[in-house]
Amino acid sequence: MESFELVILGGGFAGMCAAVEAGESGASVLLLEKESELGGSTVLSSGYMAFAGTDMQEKKGIEDSTQSLVNDLIEVGGRVNKKELIDSYGEHQLKTYHWLVDHGIEFRTLQAVSGHSVPRGHTIDPHQGIQSLYKVVKELPNVMIRFNAPAKRLLKNDMGRIGQVLYEANGKEQIVAATKGVLIASGGFAKSEELLKLFAPQLNGALRISGEGSHGDGLQMAWEHGAWVPDLPYLSGTYGFHPSANSVVKSQGLAFYKGGIIVNQLGVRFIDESLSYKVLGNAALRQPEGISYQIWDQTVMEKAVADDPLYDFDLLKRRRLLYQVDTIDELADCIDVPVKVLEHTITTYNSGIQSGTEPEFGRKSLTHNYGKPTPIEKAPFYAFESTVAMLATYAGIAVNTKGQVLNPYDEPISGLYAAGEVTGGFHGAGYVTGSSLGKCAVFGRLAVLDALKKETKV
Ligand SMILES: Cc1cc2nc3c(=O)[nH]c(=O)nc-3n(C[C@H](O)[C@H](O)[C@H](O)COP(=O)(O)OP(=O)(O)OC[C@H]3O[C@@H](n4cnc5c(N)ncnc54)[C@H](O)[C@@H]3O)c2cc1C
Repeated sequence: MESFELVILGGGFAGMCAAVEAGESGASVLLLEKESELGGSTVLSSGYMAFAGTDMQEKKGIEDSTQSLVNDLIEVGGRVNKKELIDSYGEHQLKTYHWLVDHGIEFRTLQAVSGHSVPRGHTIDPHQGIQSLYKVVKELPNVMIRFNAPAKRLLKNDMGRIGQVLYEANGKEQIVAATKGVLIASGGFAKSEELLKLFAPQLNGALRISGEGSHGDGLQMAWEHGAWVPDLPYLSGTYGFHPSANSVVKSQGLAFYKGGIIVNQLGVRFIDESLSYKVLGNAALRQPEGISYQIWDQTVMEKAVADDPLYDFDLLKRRRLLYQVDTIDELADCIDVPVKVLEHTITTYNSGIQSGTEPEFGRKSLTHNYGKPTPIEKAPFYAFESTVAMLATYAGIAVNTKGQVLNPYDEPISGLYAAGEVTGGFHGAGYVTGSSLGKCAVFGRLAVLDALKKETKV
């Protein structure tokens, strides 16, 4: 039987960070990837990563601290996320940022994004990120990647430890031994209608935009061996996609974080737009016909960021997805909402934010505690029909700070590790932008560090 010290299931950001970490420490590693290429959901992502205290922030004069990032993660997570995981993220996040830079990952821009009290969205091109890690791996003779090789089941040895993986390659079932550990990094289940129906029937009307391999395989494999699965009740979609969006053309715009508002088909607002786009998504799905529009003016339009996945409003215009008109009357006509109601909505909102706190939903900021909203008054005016997409599941296998998979009694399942989107307990009830790619890198590496220090019989 083939044998490696570490077997990693999945070649997205978590799996590739882990493969590099393990490979550089000299361990023999096999990474099994179900698809014909690396990247999973990672390469579809907007590429935001949540770090605090970086040189990029310093250059822009942004004061930040690990504690502030930790506070935001806990607050936005509704205080139901596992504090030790958040503290561990805090402890390792800046070192991880430098580790990524040292491994060729290029951080490009810095933006204010959902859930953060200061601009903390450090962007990467996720293709460049995965390719940089792959380049490192290719130089390491002790790391092997096998494509089109889906893991099917995890097997225990006589000692009750997870020590083998049953997988498929070239149409045949094979078994490989893992002497120090198996790391599940197989991503989420946003492409599994079966699991979504089971755990998130409320997301029935949401688009599905995610990696092709995101079927929850790792979750099921861990489940068989008694893994606990936190955060499932908080599964949410992400607001801000045009209804025509899909995994290839992801037309998305978050003008509400630059000062736009959101109205439903009746022409009325229904939420504080500075909240997490997950919370906005849940509320949007409950509106009449599930239809809503982002509305903004030229002041907001001028805050567009070219080539940014979330804020490139000009791109949406070039794709003919925006209504652009000179008056609120015309705007109401375009989106078929009552003119008088829309006028009233905008007037009430404008006077509310000018007085400091708008009375209807208490909006005080652009994103979470950051930035000052501006009145919607400067022509031309814009409307963008928006809906919710299921991108990532952010719930699943319970892990501790070493990446060990836990059973319902918080006891590690011997030999089994998990990292990335397949894990639960980190985000809790709300999601902070950039924390998913961030946790892939932080916990992918921590799991490897723990696994490699132990050796037991297969
Ligand atoms: C449109 C979009 C935008 C996003 N934007 C952001 C963002 O800006 N910032 C952020 O932090 N997060 C973002 N996310 C979420 C983030 O991209 C994912 O949560 C993260 O990339 C998951 O990484 P991963 O390594 O855990 O899983 P993936 O990247 O999904 O990798 C898992 C890999 O495992 C493989 N696999 C699955 N099953 C098996 C099996 N049985 N055997 C072997 N291999 C298997 C898959 O094929 C895949 O290659 C976004 C997601 C989407 C879809």
